[in-house]
Amino acid sequence: MKRHWKIVIHAIVFITLTLLTQIGGVVYLMSFVFCGRIKYSFPLKGLAAFLVIYCLGTFVTTPMLAKLFYRERIEHHENLRPANYMTILMNRNYVRPEVNEYLGAVSEQLKAQDSKVCMRYLDACFPLIDGFPLLPHLSHSDGKKVDLSLVYENNQGEIINSSKSVSGYGVFEGPRFGEVNQNKACQTAGFSLYDSPKYLTLGSINDELRFSEKGTKQLMDALTQNDAVDKVFLEPHLKERLRLQNKKIRFQGCHSVRHDDHIHVQVK
Ligand SMILES: [Zn+2]
Repeated sequence: MKRHWKIVIHAIVFITLTLLTQIGGVVYLMSFVFCGRIKYSFPLKGLAAFLVIYCLGTFVTTPMLAKLFYRERIEHHENLRPANYMTILMNRNYVRPEVNEYLGAVSEQLKAQDSKVCMRYLDACFPLIDGFPLLPHLSHSDGKKVDLSLVYENNQGEIINSSKSVSGYGVFEGPRFGEVNQNKACQTAGFSLYDSPKYLTLGSINDELRFSEKGTKQLMDALTQNDAVDKVFLEPHLKERLRLQNKKIRFQGCHSVRHDDHIHVQVK
């Protein structure tokens, strides 16, 4: 292959890994240096070097470096877990310490109410550098934002802490007949990307589960009754259906994406 094509491909891999995981691009470069120093040759040597350095970076070095940027990993509790372990593997689980305090308090509140709801977090922020956006969420760049899964139940009405898609995004609890149809309004106004999360599901799962009004309302109440929270985004028809009154629950605007597949929380 011609030399300049090799450079282009390496650049694309570097940029993609950086956008997806923040540290992946740098690890990719380091794996070339590392490979050059190892004399033994074996199949997939480059991939093995990348995986070893990436795991060390993700689980050892980055959590320490993140402290310099006032970020830490989301702390887990019995009722606070990642919806998908990929969030952790891709370093998309970092927040400011205040967010951990807030999530801990919400977790305690749900526990005190004997709620069966487990807060299942999706994308939060990256570990390093303020202003570095976590795509596709442009605003997740300051350590103050975290997305949470909606709550689902089975046909018997029991809360089941699982997702409706592999990624946790993109399977919508759309408006029913007679409810506000914000998606339609935004599409009509020319915001064709408003429902773009439908391309991010990575496959839908658990088709038998349905939206839990009771569980999602319990979670929304616990999230918004805490003074530390600044704003919570949820689609208007769900706010109406769950009869939520709290003024911190806002509509995010048509320039953003629909929020009837997840809840967006931002802390002061
Ligand atoms: Zn968000």
